[in-house]
Amino acid sequence: MHSHLPRNIESLCPGCNSEAVALAIESGDSSVLKNAPGVVRAEILERDGTVVMRKACPKHGIFEDLLASDANFFRRIEERAWATTPGDFSGDHGALSVREGTGGFMVVDLTTRCNLKCARCFMDANGIGHVHEPDFETIRLLLDRAKAARPNADINILFSGGEPTLSPNLLPAISHANALGFKRLYMATNGIKLAQEPDFAGACHAAGLHGILLQLDGANNAAHAYLGAANLFDVKTEALSNAHNAGLQVTLQVTVANGVNNDQVGPTLDFAIKNIRRVFGVLFQPIMFAGRDHGVTDDDRLTRRYTLADLAADLRMQTDGKLEPLRDWWPGSRFQFFAQLGNFLRRNETASIGHGDPGHFGTFAPLVVNTRTRQWVPLGRFFNLDSFERQILTEGPTTAPDLARAIQAARNSFSAGEAPSGFTFEDFPSLLNQCIARVNTGWGDWERRGYEDGNFRLVIVQGLWFQDLFNFDVRINRTSPVVVATQEGEISFAAYNGAGWRQVVEHKFQTAGLAEWNRTRGRHTIYANHVMVPVSSLTATSK
Ligand code: SF4
Repeated sequence: MHSHLPRNIESLCPGCNSEAVALAIESGDSSVLKNAPGVVRAEILERDGTVVMRKACPKHGIFEDLLASDANFFRRIEERAWATTPGDFSGDHGALSVREGTGGFMVVDLTTRCNLKCARCFMDANGIGHVHEPDFETIRLLLDRAKAARPNADINILFSGGEPTLSPNLLPAISHANALGFKRLYMATNGIKLAQEPDFAGACHAAGLHGILLQLDGANNAAHAYLGAANLFDVKTEALSNAHNAGLQVTLQVTVANGVNNDQVGPTLDFAIKNIRRVFGVLFQPIMFAGRDHGVTDDDRLTRRYTLADLAADLRMQTDGKLEPLRDWWPGSRFQFFAQLGNFLRRNETASIGHGDPGHFGTFAPLVVNTRTRQWVPLGRFFNLDSFERQILTEGPTTAPDLARAIQAARNSFSAGEAPSGFTFEDFPSLLNQCIARVNTGWGDWERRGYEDGNFRLVIVQGLWFQDLFNFDVRINRTSPVVVATQEGEISFAAYNGAGWRQVVEHKFQTAGLAEWNRTRGRHTIYANHVMVPVSSLTATSK
């Protein structure tokens, strides 16, 4: 993919979109948003070494936002992104429909309720005047329909919310998805229930849950203070222990805002490496201005805006220069390469999971960690992935490479002197197995191979930036790797959370008004105002 700057694109006007959302809610007619979501022309341009998006609406004026604090990083990621394939998801959402991409994750929101009330929350949990908590019959229909989504039969299902552990339908939903044949079932959680009820993780695993995305926004309690409770780091480390002991794979999910917790990206990575036997990856998600931040001022937005180039720069600084932005990061879609390679080497075109083509909106950096010493080295330091791909994909990404040529290309791309101490070329098959098994459940014994405990473990550090009204790119939205399964069809994560579809769907299909819910079902606990979350036993976090 080329990276041309400047270029014209289609984006959304925040003012027009908000008016369309309000009208759709008032009229109860979602086609208002479908037909006129507020598309405007925009320009992406380079300015003073950064990349910005600028757009003008005749009615609401000019909007400008930062896409990357480093234009060279932006180009590196865009130029390496892989093209997508046509997709087939249900529902028509007009210009914001998902038309391409692999649908790497399908989100199933189980409730709008949460036991926290974080200062920033893109879905405004506990902040709206009604509750949307689908009954099991609705969830069953969403999951049944997800089986028909294409091109991926091997899609990840992510149960989310709000806090999904508050929904009584969580375990039945996991069981049903498991019975349908979905293999990779995850839950996004703040970890409170997993910490408070040690047996709950086991129940989730028994129902078929594969792993959790555990919200962790730093490596100490102070870094979590803005989430409302006083001891959340301790709570989350307890949740991590319980999840690991129950057999769940844990990925740390870190929301990062500039000036709020971006000083924690290095310490969080360090925490992950120290806990390598319990943590299998780290997902950094820069803040999206939606939900509680929907009405953010321009100044506040530009102060807290955090791009993937910022993440790469901060991680370089906070790891003493070990992680190089222009050497160690690739676009998220490039992980598809490993799935393709696995298929080719097995001479078997099993359906594989990819991460779509979010262009500059998704990145990853693979690290190789010595599981005994915890020393780590970025893969990019000792393996030239660009060169390897060039040598084996001479006839394009859909043509099978010859196995002998692939091995020779790998040897040519390996710099033994830069590799981790004790790492030899013979250790590569184990790393390759980990890569392939993580994106392809057709690879036999994928759960063990994906996370096997050899001397060296691959840790994938991901950066995934979801679009909001200010940086929205309609073309990229069409290729969204993450869709949300709703009563109105499968909607891209950005269109759902950033462009108003969530408000429309949750209002239209609300379970009850908040007052009625509280009267008939009772209030749930919300930990706020710096209270301590009660957890009976807190254990050491690192062994
Ligand atoms: S944990 Fe915080 S960010 Fe997540 S749903 Fe609850 S309130 Fe929102």
